[in-house]
Amino acid sequence: MKTIQAYRFALDLTSRQERDVLAHAGAARVAHNWALAKVKAVMDQRAAERSYGVPEELLTPSLHWSLAGLRKAWNAAKPTVAPWWGEVSKEAFNTGLDALARGLKNWADSRKGVRAGRPVGFPRFKSRRRTTPSVRFTTGAIRVEPGRMHVVLPRLGRLKLHESARKLARRLDNGTARIMSATVRRDGGRWHVAFTVEVERAEHRPARPQSVVGVDVGIKHLAVLSTGELVDNPRHLVAAQQRMRSLGRALSRKTGPDRRTGRRASKRWERAAARLGRAHGRVANLRRDGLHKLTTRLAREHGTVVVEDLNVAGMLRNRRLARRIADAGFAEIRRQLAYKTGWNGGRLLVADRWYPSSKTCSGCGAVKTKLALSEREYECEACGLVLDRDRNAALNLAALAAEFDTAGSGPVAARGADQKTRPRGQVATKREPGTAPAGQTGTVLPRGRTIDRVLAKAH
Ligand SMILES: [Zn+2]
Repeated sequence: MKTIQAYRFALDLTSRQERDVLAHAGAARVAHNWALAKVKAVMDQRAAERSYGVPEELLTPSLHWSLAGLRKAWNAAKPTVAPWWGEVSKEAFNTGLDALARGLKNWADSRKGVRAGRPVGFPRFKSRRRTTPSVRFTTGAIRVEPGRMHVVLPRLGRLKLHESARKLARRLDNGTARIMSATVRRDGGRWHVAFTVEVERAEHRPARPQSVVGVDVGIKHLAVLSTGELVDNPRHLVAAQQRMRSLGRALSRKTGPDRRTGRRASKRWERAAARLGRAHGRVANLRRDGLHKLTTRLAREHGTVVVEDLNVAGMLRNRRLARRIADAGFAEIRRQLAYKTGWNGGRLLVADRWYPSSKTCSGCGAVKTKLALSEREYECEACGLVLDRDRNAALNLAALAAEFDTAGSGPVAARGADQKTRPRGQVATKREPGTAPAGQTGTVLPRGRTIDRVLAKAH
């Protein structure tokens, strides 16, 4: 099975190497901004000409928005725009032009309505201060040194790694991986290199192929499993977040830059900003680590993992919950589970957004009309069952898988069954405001025969 995977390692750059990388990142920005200005100028020119009644065929020819088109324009202009162009790798300019080509395409697709999700704005100029410095290499000498503590990149040469690249090197050595590109980027106040790698993965089976686990991604805990296990948030996360907050307050007490008055930031402000950046990075790392450990374990062990389709975009708009939810990384858990169950030969089932997993009794199947977020215990009026709210939801999710299988529906059967008329239940949904697609408002999908509609295979 061939997959595209990323391997990311922290770098220890010398100050000279850091200067080189920054020069490359700067060159990427120059090419991006030059091409964006050019695209805008041509658009304005054509609009003006049209308003004077110039016929279409006589308009200033429009610029090709593809990477190849932008590159051609850039190569023609670079001797005058950037006479120093020979000092950096051509990959640097390519990085900037590629980002612009993609930005333009996303904007155009979004306007035409071919792109899902939120509307995408027109690409903006990249500022030196606000852009994350990064450069991507797709060709030339990209390799890991035999000692596995250094990588070699075109122009930048031999860079020291902060951690061993043995996991990637092992795959490169036995021929199960091929590096497609390498990106050097500064995030969280530290330099990283990320390799995009095509990996040939061996077929795996989950340790317990018949096992089903329901995962309720929580606020209080990282997740609650239908097995009864509570998976806590990473231990140091809370401490790291507290430190991040206090550093944020410390920063706000210092003299920052002010664009209107042209005031420069104080040295103390700059040091505090760097400390805050590193604290941010640490929080992000801890969170990522916790999520990866959980999803790897679930995918290796269980044949079937069932999760809910949470409307993360809608929930993030809820400001009180937003922080916690963003932290728990709902969308990230699901993304990781999707590819990891694929790697391990298991499957991920995703319950419909409208399936009332929290409001349904896992004992008798009765559905409550109301369940406040503050109610941490589920109490069933029908059968008297009392248990933890999240555990109840996880059990319901796990039970869905069994129904999915007895209904005999694979993806194909599910698609056919989709056409049947669904019985309409009572009005009770777990709907986030403003997220209901037309026609689905105010109906609940009852348990039972509609299982094919409620569950979908994620891959
Ligand atoms: Zn009950």
